[in-house]
Amino acid sequence: MTNADPVQGDIWKEKGYIMDGMGAAQKLIQNHVLKKEEYVTLLECASDRDVKKVLTDEAVRLRKIYYGDKVYTRGLIEFTNYCKNNCYYCGIRAGNRNVVRYRLTEEEILDCCREGYRLGFHTFVLQGGEDPYYTDEIMVELIRAIKAEFPDCALTLSIGEKSRESYRLFREAGADRYLLRHETANAEHYGSLHPAAMSLSDRKQCLYDLKELGYQAGAGFMVGSPGQTVEHMAEDLVFLQELQPQMVGIGPFIPHHDTIFAEEKAGSVEMTLFLLSVIRIMLPKVLLPATTALGTMDPQGREKGLKAGANVVMPNLSPVKNRKQYELYDNKICTGEEAAQCRGCLAGRVQRAGYCLVTDRGDAV
Ligand code: SAH
Repeated sequence: MTNADPVQGDIWKEKGYIMDGMGAAQKLIQNHVLKKEEYVTLLECASDRDVKKVLTDEAVRLRKIYYGDKVYTRGLIEFTNYCKNNCYYCGIRAGNRNVVRYRLTEEEILDCCREGYRLGFHTFVLQGGEDPYYTDEIMVELIRAIKAEFPDCALTLSIGEKSRESYRLFREAGADRYLLRHETANAEHYGSLHPAAMSLSDRKQCLYDLKELGYQAGAGFMVGSPGQTVEHMAEDLVFLQELQPQMVGIGPFIPHHDTIFAEEKAGSVEMTLFLLSVIRIMLPKVLLPATTALGTMDPQGREKGLKAGANVVMPNLSPVKNRKQYELYDNKICTGEEAAQCRGCLAGRVQRAGYCLVTDRGDAV
């Protein structure tokens, strides 16, 4: 696909931009980085078969170089669905009165880890809403308890925006990694997805703090969130390039019936897969999950994600009685299964997709 406007095309050329989808793909493969406008061109060609094939092949090749056929597994423990925030897209936002709220006790969380450990997990991800009940003291105590009982395991936190001091305390207590999707790197778009009290600059600052404190940090965004354009996604890629996170989480946006976005369209699986390949090429060693949201939008979504360059899966270790209550979006999969079933099912899926589920900690290489 070439630029339809010759004058505009010449201006781009003078600036050194490549304005052809295949050209952009090849440049990305060669340099692992593009300018924002070139990402736009690339993303506009996301359904071009040739461009897609070139990128997917390269993503798979790179992933094989650094990770072989390995797929890392992280045990996800959704330990609270209380949240003080009101992110407009999220089912467990504070304003949703229809959610039955729950919190797990330290003992319940440790039980999830014990069950996970028995099943071979060596990474636990504690994810939750921003729940003020879990003060820094309680979190530090919890982190210490988990690390004391499972010293050979990595501990990942995903509990939203905290002060640098809190992040420092958690890190000192033993937390190894932190997931905090930036959600969108465009400030205006960020403003349309979040209440005025939240800001993109705060979110970005958290990510920089986390990296500086020595966490393996994960950023990411929803694909097809309301109002998102290809320019926004190009900005997301530029931001990832700048941040150089060790992990990137992306998945399609899926509407939740109790949010203002209830009637919005869900994000596309195809675009998510395309972006997984692009991100694998940009950051060849990145840890990239095939997310539950991808599996929710397409029964083969996670397998397709692995074949597009992803190398991580995150089966659920949360108690079955609470799973339905951690409903970020509608129709979330794996809410009725025991941890062992979830792990068994994913191991089978990974194997049938031609990969091998491994149990080591799987730190960033
Ligand atoms: N409170 C934590 C964890 C958030 S939940 C934090 O702020 O980081 C984890 C991720 O789920 C979010 O970062 C968001 O990208 C995703 N998510 C939330 N609602 C969603 C929806 N409706 N569709 C798809 N993904 C969603």
